[in-house]
Amino acid sequence: MNLDVAIAELIASVKHVDDLKEHAIRDFAQTAGFYAESGPTFDPKGTYLCGDCCFRQMPHTCDLVSGIIKMKIGSCMMWRIGEPVGLKVKHKLSQVEAGYAERPRSKGFGCSRCEYGSEAEKPDSAGRKSWCDFWRMHIKPLACCFREEGPDSKDAPGE
Ligand code: SF4
Ligand code: SF4
Repeated sequence: MNLDVAIAELIASVKHVDDLKEHAIRDFAQTAGFYAESGPTFDPKGTYLCGDCCFRQMPHTCDLVSGIIKMKIGSCMMWRIGEPVGLKVKHKLSQVEAGYAERPRSKGFGCSRCEYGSEAEKPDSAGRKSWCDFWRMHIKPLACCFREEGPDSKDAPGE
């Protein structure tokens, strides 16, 4: 066997294993941790504010979550983009259950403002150029998940 070819194949397979490992972690983060980098739970603006969520009830309540909701500084893990849907639910989630939080100084959420996010040493094969230290995977800067946290985070301030 040509040694150079064998080494090249070995390196390629290790990279492949890393990609597969991250793929499995990302799958888990998407299903269990509400990680979103595409689709209706992804915010192209990267702020994930209640004011852009389809469950908002202007001026300061929500279809799903109890208490006072602040459209310009609040968000929760149920965030979904769109015009108000006017959902009628019998029992709303508490702010703790929904993971509702406010960021009064940042006025936005998302990986780019999260204490676990940073620039990756190098992008992954899909071009994700940021790194998440909580999930240990490459992420997109405008993505978000339920673990979003920052120095000005106030969890469930209305309860
Ligand atoms: S509290 Fe959650 S569900 Fe309600 S408007 Fe804000 S992000 Fe949407
Ligand atoms: S950087 Fe923060 S918001 Fe983004 S995936 Fe990691 S923990 Fe979640």
